[in-house]
Amino acid sequence: MNESPDLLETLALARDFLAREIAYAPASIARMNDRGSDSDSLTILSQEACSCQKCGLARTRTSVVFGSGRTDADLVFIGEAPGAEEDRQGLPFVGAAGQLLTRMIEAMGLTREDVYIANVIKCRPPNNRDPKPDEIAACQPYLLQQIEQIAPVVICTLGRFAAQTLLQTTESMGRLRGKIFEYQGAKLVPTYHPAALLRNTQWKRPAWEDLKLVRKLYDGTEI
Ligand code: SF4
Repeated sequence: MNESPDLLETLALARDFLAREIAYAPASIARMNDRGSDSDSLTILSQEACSCQKCGLARTRTSVVFGSGRTDADLVFIGEAPGAEEDRQGLPFVGAAGQLLTRMIEAMGLTREDVYIANVIKCRPPNNRDPKPDEIAACQPYLLQQIEQIAPVVICTLGRFAAQTLLQTTESMGRLRGKIFEYQGAKLVPTYHPAALLRNTQWKRPAWEDLKLVRKLYDGTEI
């Protein structure tokens, strides 16, 4: 993975910081999830999506990338759409940006198995172009049902597209990030996409502030 030493240093600092935070946080990480989940419904929805032909992306995809992780997760990360590697493997966030996301999650004191990861769009747009409005409209019901069935406490959107689509706004990332929004009964915090953090290392500190906020909401800590 081609991370800069500066980024690695920040993530190491983050881990140290969270180790202290978690040590003092009462009843945080071990909080039991008492909502229950409907993993069967999610499986059925996933099978439906895997044969979906509702938009033109069905013609160019290799795989439908439905989502992965814990089906009763308290924390859900939502990105834009699969990239080339995700399209090949059928899993979300498995390329270079995905590896950084894994490290970000671990820096929060969690693992990928503790959370659920999905995208707004389930099939890769050719050449990673922005999804078109008709593709978003066709695909969004899958995400809405995923969120309904997982019923997370916190949603962290990754990048401008996911935040703007879910919040139905045209506000810039700079204005959206670090704020708490309500979305389908969950708290939603937008932050930068890991791919953007790989390109713009000056955003890694504000992104870390966002992740600390996400962790506090996840813990139920007073903000
Ligand atoms: S992007 Fe969504 S709506 Fe379009 S074919 Fe794939 S799963 Fe269906």
